[in-house]
Amino acid sequence: MLRFTEIFPKNVSAFVSGAEINFAYPKAGNFLNSGQEEYVKNEFKVSPLRVASIKQVHEDNIVIVDDKYLKDGKVPFADALITDLDNAVLTVRTADCLSIFLCDDKSRALGLIHAGWKSTAKKIAQKTVGKMKEHFKVDPGDLKAVFGPCIRSCCYEVSGELKEHFPREIILRDKKLFLDLALANRNQLVEAGLDIRKISDCRICTYCGDNCFSHRKDGEGAGRMLSLLVKNII
Ligand SMILES: [Zn+2]
Repeated sequence: MLRFTEIFPKNVSAFVSGAEINFAYPKAGNFLNSGQEEYVKNEFKVSPLRVASIKQVHEDNIVIVDDKYLKDGKVPFADALITDLDNAVLTVRTADCLSIFLCDDKSRALGLIHAGWKSTAKKIAQKTVGKMKEHFKVDPGDLKAVFGPCIRSCCYEVSGELKEHFPREIILRDKKLFLDLALANRNQLVEAGLDIRKISDCRICTYCGDNCFSHRKDGEGAGRMLSLLVKNII
């Protein structure tokens, strides 16, 4: 498990689970995950009713987690969540895709993004910053960002079709093309107004690193790691 304790304010918890627990939804249509509920209760003493989950679809929809959202308990199709609530737990699941944690130092608004290449091509990171600006009056220059594990350019071989989406982030090596997914998102965040010095990256590759689930390595049945972001735990 990775905890980003040094980067965000003390009352903000941000972490990514490892391969000890599989957080994949148990089956299609069942978006309540008992593993997640138990975990959140034990680790953070937060009610599972305050956990916001999404059905990730590799698009660019962003949900605003407010009291109504938590009360309704719906799980919408989306790939990012933002909130300014205390004790609202934002979650995404990954196995090669990048999870991006955002926290505004001033307003303490939070954002959590599931960024695979498709959502990255649709500029989900940039759009999430825009939404935080619009709804929580966030100044992008105040935002801190952390990148969780993802498949890195050491292992992420891609087809030539992706070149048009990522002209600056595709690398040619041994006559093969590799995508630097983290760099693509870093570039987007800088374009959105973030200070590059406030973007941290754990630099772990899910494919060749230890203790990670990897869709590319493990195939369709790959487990999922849980990324979680919450502030003001009681
Ligand atoms: Zn690698």
